[in-house]
Amino acid sequence: MDLLSQWTLELTPKCNLKCGMCSLWDSGRVDGQGLLVSLHDGTFFSQFSKKRLINIVGGEPFENPDLSVVLTELKEQGLKIRLWSNGITQPDQWMSIKNTVDGIMIYLPTVFPEDYQLSTGFATWGDFEDSLRFLKKHRLPFSFHTPVSQANLSDLPDFYDYAQSYGVPLCLHYSAREALHPEHEKYILRFLRVKGVSVYKKKTAMPPTVCPALPHGAFEDPYQILKNAFFDQFK
Ligand code: SF4
Repeated sequence: MDLLSQWTLELTPKCNLKCGMCSLWDSGRVDGQGLLVSLHDGTFFSQFSKKRLINIVGGEPFENPDLSVVLTELKEQGLKIRLWSNGITQPDQWMSIKNTVDGIMIYLPTVFPEDYQLSTGFATWGDFEDSLRFLKKHRLPFSFHTPVSQANLSDLPDFYDYAQSYGVPLCLHYSAREALHPEHEKYILRFLRVKGVSVYKKKTAMPPTVCPALPHGAFEDPYQILKNAFFDQFK
């Protein structure tokens, strides 16, 4: 999976989950209309060249009520769209983006049902699997992504098996700042040889308004992250 040669657009810092390592759910931000206006009047693409693919990230992108409109505007310009979501959303919201997204990356914090609510602070494993079954049934193209750390290293075969149970790819990513033992890093990199698995090393920290579970460095280098809030300053 090619994560580079792309723009990344942070649509909102808000999130509907309350994962332990993150306080974005509490950001209280109200997303403005600057981005939509700049897409409508064409100034968005006069400032930022058109890349082949754009990553849409949050927080949780569905927390911005203009998501489907933004995606439609981007799609009309011929971009491919990859949406990064925690997967906890309603069927009508999934359907609202069905014809515009080319790929959905679902955050997989654990594959152990009893740990899911503990990890996300809110949603249940049942909610999560309902969403996945809906995506599968309606043929929305999704993959999983998982941040790898010392804590879940030994569970990677379970993550792989879970992705296989849905027949979808798995993206593993880990931070260069974690200072993993060289043998452990070698172990992660062995998954590069496994069909359907990609592995990324994150070199830099994500801005504090972006979901910390995303593969940071892979987005940032060499292209910058665009923020919805950036466009509001021109209003
Ligand atoms: S880590 Fe990501 S999914 Fe979890 S609460 Fe933060 S923004 Fe949401």
